[in-house]
Amino acid sequence: MSDCLFCRIVAGEVPGDVVHVTEGTVAFRDVAPQAPTHVLVVPRTHYANAAELAAGDPAVMSELVTAAAAVAAAEGHDDYRLVLNTGEGAGQSVFHTHLHVLAGRPMTWPPG
Ligand code: IMP
Repeated sequence: MSDCLFCRIVAGEVPGDVVHVTEGTVAFRDVAPQAPTHVLVVPRTHYANAAELAAGDPAVMSELVTAAAAVAAAEGHDDYRLVLNTGEGAGQSVFHTHLHVLAGRPMTWPPG
C-alpha cells in the first residue's frame, strides 16, 4: 500500500470528496477549504511536484489545467485561481502534484 495520501485517495483507499475525474486526473475537495470552491486536481500517477509531472507526462499536466477549468465552470466560476506550491518553503505539504483550484471570493495579490 502506498504511503502517499493522494495516491491512496486516487485508489479509493482513503475517502475523498471527488468532484471530477478524467482518464489521467482525479479532482476532490480540499479538507481545509480556503475559498468557497477549493478543489485539488491530481494526476492518477505519482509525481512529487508540477515540474516532475510536466517532464514525465506533459499531456497529463495539460489535463490537470483542463480539469481545473471544468471544475470551476461546473461550480459557476468564470474567475478562479490555480496554485501549484512547490517545495516546503513555498507551502507544499503533500508531495504528490496537486493543482489547487480556488474560487468564489475576491483574491488578493500577492498571496500570503
Ligand atoms: P499543499 O500545502 O499545497 O501541499 O496542499 C495540500 C493540501 O491538501 C492542503 O490544502 C490540505 O488542506 C489538503 N489536504 C490534506 N489532506 C487532505 C485530505 O485527506 N483530503 C483532501 N485534502 C487534503
